[in-house]
Amino acid sequence: MKIRGVVLEQTGGPLTLSELDLADPGPEEVLVRLGASGVCHSDWNAVDGTAESVCPVVLGHEGGGVVEAVGPAVTRVAVGDHVALSWTPSCGVCEECLRDLPWHCSTAWPAMATGGLMDGTTRLTLGGEPVYHYSFLSTFAEACVVPERSCVRIDADVPFEIAGLVGCGVSTGIGAVWRTARVRPGERVAIVGCGGVGLSALLAAKAVGAEPIVAVDAAASKLEFARELGADRVVLAGSNPEETAEAVRAESGGGVDYAIEATGRPEAMRAAFLSTRQRGAAVLIGIPRPDAVLELPALTIPRMERRVLGSIYGSTWPERDFAKTFELYRSGRLPLDKLITHRLPLDGVEHAFELMRAGEAVRVVLDLGGPA
Ligand SMILES: [Zn+2]
Ligand SMILES: [Zn+2]
Repeated sequence: MKIRGVVLEQTGGPLTLSELDLADPGPEEVLVRLGASGVCHSDWNAVDGTAESVCPVVLGHEGGGVVEAVGPAVTRVAVGDHVALSWTPSCGVCEECLRDLPWHCSTAWPAMATGGLMDGTTRLTLGGEPVYHYSFLSTFAEACVVPERSCVRIDADVPFEIAGLVGCGVSTGIGAVWRTARVRPGERVAIVGCGGVGLSALLAAKAVGAEPIVAVDAAASKLEFARELGADRVVLAGSNPEETAEAVRAESGGGVDYAIEATGRPEAMRAAFLSTRQRGAAVLIGIPRPDAVLELPALTIPRMERRVLGSIYGSTWPERDFAKTFELYRSGRLPLDKLITHRLPLDGVEHAFELMRAGEAVRVVLDLGGPA
């Protein structure tokens, strides 16, 4: 079938709205008509080369939609099901899956690196030439063919844009708080970097009764927004990590139990670490450049029992966690719609990146029209 999708020809190159051919779903694959896609910082990392992707590629890895067709041997979903897409189609049988770490699935990650689906081949072509998938999903398009294991069935009343956000950015933020750190009521939390992922972490910290919550960002406008979402204190980050950390320690009564770092920049990671109290942990969720190095004062690690916790995808197990997240959204405990600052059509991807990079957007969603 013909679909419209946004193609990145090469790293650093332009984004072009193109008419592509999308092949039928193969075994254990599903065709999803997309209703909405989030625009995530990882998509931009692929454009600017922070994390290179196989090109040409259709970016986008946060989507919600309806199953339009299924390939052979599909058992998890049926035509007409509403789904949220996950970029970790875990196999359930590899060693990491059996250790209950499906987001580290050792089948999914190597397949993802090929730019194909699970068998390493692509379902997208442009003028007969292959176009690659991004994180199995490629949601900057009207429809996509994905592994059935990337589909998490959701209730039909979940808005597609919320389904999309939960598919990556929101789960990365809330999972870091609930799953990786396991923040408890009354614990002190700093959020370092108040973009969409950081603010998702803030909402999660608020929902579990963390106190105080200190929001940290280099942009005053982001801090204002963080206050509206429930931050108790704010710290305007300067260029010196030591000074930023000192301010967080002062605002939190002597350091935080958890400093959630969502920028991926080593100086912000260092500020997060230095913001922690005894037995505190810096929880690192931002993706740094591959060659980035983080320097920390070693003595404080044994002396203060400080820790560094890595978190990818918020240690999220989509089949286990998405449904609960939607329930908390529905009940008002997680007001995820407040994170959406802009809604744009499919050809607005470039504008979405501009808004994101200028710090004007928290979360931009693409309204893809989707199922009638
Ligand atoms: Zn993402
Ligand atoms: Zn696995």
